[in-house]
Amino acid sequence: AGLDNLDFAVLCALALAVVAYFGRDTLKAVFSSDDSLTSVSSTSRDIVEVAKENDKNYLVLFGSQTGTGEDYAKKFAKELIAKFQLKVMCVDVEKYDFDNLSQLPSNIPVSFFISTYGEGDFPDGAVALEEFLRDAEADSLSNLKYTLFGLGNSTYEFFNGASKKTEKYLKDAGANLIGKFGIADDGAGTTDEDYLSWKDATLDALKDVLHLDEHEEKFEPAYQYEELEQYYDESVSHGEPTTAYLPENTIKGPFTHNQPFLAPVVKSRELFKNTDRNCIHAEFDLEGSNLKYTTGDHLGVLPSNSDEHVKQFLTTFSLKEDTVFDLISTDATVQPPFPVPTSIGAAVRYYLEITGPVSRSIFGQLVEFSPNEEVKAKLVQLSKDKEEFAKQITSKHFNLADAVLYLSNGKPWSSVPWNFLLETLPHMQPRYYSISSSSSTEPGVVHVTAVVENQPNPTEEGKKITGVATNLLRNIQLVQNKVDLYELEKNEKEGRTPTPSLSVHFDLNGPRNLYKNFKLPVHIRHSQFRLPSNPNTPVIMIGPGTGVAPFRGFIRERVAYKEHHKDDGEAISQLGKHILFYGSRNQNDYLYAEEWPEYAKKLGECFEMVVGHSRLGGDSKKRTYVQDLLIQRREDVFKMIKDGAFIYVCGDAKGMAQGVHKALVQIISEGNKVSEEDATNIIKMMKTTGKYQEDVW
Ligand code: FAD
Repeated sequence: AGLDNLDFAVLCALALAVVAYFGRDTLKAVFSSDDSLTSVSSTSRDIVEVAKENDKNYLVLFGSQTGTGEDYAKKFAKELIAKFQLKVMCVDVEKYDFDNLSQLPSNIPVSFFISTYGEGDFPDGAVALEEFLRDAEADSLSNLKYTLFGLGNSTYEFFNGASKKTEKYLKDAGANLIGKFGIADDGAGTTDEDYLSWKDATLDALKDVLHLDEHEEKFEPAYQYEELEQYYDESVSHGEPTTAYLPENTIKGPFTHNQPFLAPVVKSRELFKNTDRNCIHAEFDLEGSNLKYTTGDHLGVLPSNSDEHVKQFLTTFSLKEDTVFDLISTDATVQPPFPVPTSIGAAVRYYLEITGPVSRSIFGQLVEFSPNEEVKAKLVQLSKDKEEFAKQITSKHFNLADAVLYLSNGKPWSSVPWNFLLETLPHMQPRYYSISSSSSTEPGVVHVTAVVENQPNPTEEGKKITGVATNLLRNIQLVQNKVDLYELEKNEKEGRTPTPSLSVHFDLNGPRNLYKNFKLPVHIRHSQFRLPSNPNTPVIMIGPGTGVAPFRGFIRERVAYKEHHKDDGEAISQLGKHILFYGSRNQNDYLYAEEWPEYAKKLGECFEMVVGHSRLGGDSKKRTYVQDLLIQRREDVFKMIKDGAFIYVCGDAKGMAQGVHKALVQIISEGNKVSEEDATNIIKMMKTTGKYQEDVW
């Protein structure tokens, strides 16, 4: 609460005078609230001991928040094994202790893959590593040879903050970097290409420094693969999220990312009216889970692939759905990535990402499994030629099955081993949604607001590019509300409605009917996106499109506060001003349009909503974005900031968040009569002290 009252003048003075001397980390330590970092319980496993016990001569360590860092770490590890036949241990830093890292023999190099999360922070699971490296004494790691690859997004202020800190700490501790520190930029959409160029250079550097012999690259399975004949055995997974969900077990909490809860969607509805796009409001019931959330948190939803995509994948690689297989680890440091034994059909539907864009590196790996010489030549060429790959594959929005069929003129490939695919494709990851309900009004129910990813493929008539989780949510919404799918399709075809029919269909019953009654595996991810604890603090919220989701939660929270204090005139009269800047294309996609007047009625003067539309059409060709609305209201906005307002930005990380940042720089620079550079530093300080928070994606 102390922060809420931090005077804007003091903040400015601090920003201008101190930031230059001390840097962000010191300030953060001074100002951060205690809960700003999630602490990690230490495991008793010593990385050095485990590496030695398992006779490893190379470590690949990843700190990953959403799975991308993990994915690249594993790819890199596989390549080290295939190319140099190293004995690689590839593990999540969350699972180990690093206190003895200085005793790692100098002939065991380490490759770090570190993702950045939020405001330049380490992933939750890498906080212990961060603390260890930060506190390492000078020269204490002079034995260590390492490579480092960071994953981040340049639309965030503290781009690749975590990997940059890792580099500094390692350098300060005297560790020796091999090759160059590489960074990936998801903001520019170049993560895969950034990785590939870093990887090629780093493998060359490793080869030189470590005097490694290079072998012809070959797929080396990490598990012994066995086919079984026992589909109906209760120990065989049909796609259950974890083995605890198998019929022979009983599932108990706690429910986490690793052990999701099966929450029923108890209500759902379409939020857009009369448009060719869809946005789903879904309400998940948490009863019986013991899960708690706070307004501003995220819901993680683990989706499954559609019938159409599963079928396409199985046909393309000539795979039999019912084949049951097991994976046996030959190495104590490697665990099967999903519950086994399972069937190929279940793995393709529930455990693998089969629809996203194809990575160029997988083309290189597929060469050894080419169905014929002609395809092989194409694979070799495309895997080496970045531009040609972008032109022929990426720009067409191909998924893996589309891409290989394109190379073989539509002929299925039976030459690719299934265990190569299951070890090479990324594993299904949860999608996150900013919770749009309030934990004060509906503690046991989580609302999400998800825009459906479904657009025509410009290069292939009749084909759509579809997102997994959002189309699954729409499928649930249509079935739950008993919409006649046949009628919907007919109406769309005959031009009676712009609302698209369902492009892809899902098995809503799930493995062994576990998902019946519209259940989905979910978990809560706690965020730091929080209303000021003092309700008298003014609040500026900026959230166009689905970016409005958490602000619906915030406003419901304040309505609950007012109702709770209805007999306390003073509390109510002091409630700070809450202003929401919202934008949509037009009236048809104006989210929760009918709810806002209700909130306004209840909150009275302390709530104001400023709305702009970017595509009104008709005579009005003028496009208004939230950043324009901010400028239009510059005086009020500056006054609120001066009065200590907290600023919240949610939604599109690329255009919107930057546009808003720019508008606020202008407002502060004009209002405070300082240069834009100084205004930028003031905003940086606001971010550091939690007075400017972003929830962008
Ligand atoms: P995915 O399957 O993950 O696909 C992602 C995109 O790639 C889609 O646009 C899809 O059409 C496209 N695509 C698929 N295949 C290909 C291909 N072969 N080539 C090229 N493109 C392809 N979203 C919301 O709607 N509301 C929220 O409140 C919200 N909050 C979020 C909060 C956080 C912290 C984060 C990180 C994200 C949030 N998101 C939110 C985004 C959300 O997590 C999902 O990314 C989004 O819903 C898409 O998921 P999907 O499974 O439908 O699409």
